[in-house]
Amino acid sequence: MTAPVQLAEVRKVYGTGPSAVTALGGVSYSFTEGTFTAVMGPSGSGKSTLLHCAAGLDEPTAGEVHLTGIPLHGLNETALTELRREHVAFVFQAFNLMPALTVRQNVVLPMTLAGRFPDQAWVSEVIQRVGLGDRTRHRPGELSGGQQQRVAIARALAGRAAITFADEPTGALDTQTALEVLTLLRDQARAAGQTIVMVTHDPVAASYADNVVFLVDGQIVSESPAPTAESVAAELAKLSRLKVTT
Ligand code: ADP
Repeated sequence: MTAPVQLAEVRKVYGTGPSAVTALGGVSYSFTEGTFTAVMGPSGSGKSTLLHCAAGLDEPTAGEVHLTGIPLHGLNETALTELRREHVAFVFQAFNLMPALTVRQNVVLPMTLAGRFPDQAWVSEVIQRVGLGDRTRHRPGELSGGQQQRVAIARALAGRAAITFADEPTGALDTQTALEVLTLLRDQARAAGQTIVMVTHDPVAASYADNVVFLVDGQIVSESPAPTAESVAAELAKLSRLKVTT
């Protein structure tokens, strides 16, 4: 079976000449169907670049990315947009909420744009579970930063996309809501077979994933299947020592 997200020898170099920075140094990895994976590593290790290249938002300098078995290399912007609209959901720091639309309208917007009919009961459940059940008619400007982030999470989950990319999805949330969101992500991978890739700094958040991959200096250096918050924290501490001494 083809993995929904596949990276083969992906390199990303920013800039040229002496100021060039190698953000990814030839990363190969398959994110398998129905798996919730956390990507961790020190600041500057290439996590965001990995996410952007995997999602087709940034073009690798070399190597191949396949999404749902389709090679991104050579797709034009229209075809890429179409592919993402069909199969991919995002929870990124910039929430990209539409200020004129209500919470519920924002949540169903990607489906509307893709010409799909939202499953209204599921949409209501997702909005409820991210703690916005009493805010469905509010507009983003009437919500706090954490609440806006929850709208973005609900929007990503409402369409049951085959692939979800999340960058620090629980960063601005209180502990209780963060745990609810992480449980929701885990349930979606297990029950609905969604493939979820999440960048996080937080070992507790990573412990909700099925697998953690650790990046150092643009390379995947280790993996932790069945992670616990303690095992992840220990691995991070080990890697930061490794980084200092090399
Ligand atoms: P992380 O998400 O782990 O903090 P990034 O993927 O953001 O790491 O960055 C990896 C490396 O690439 C860093 O050294 C960073 O400075 C560099 N980098 C990231 N984006 C750019 C860019 N647009 N231009 C130049 N360098 C960049």
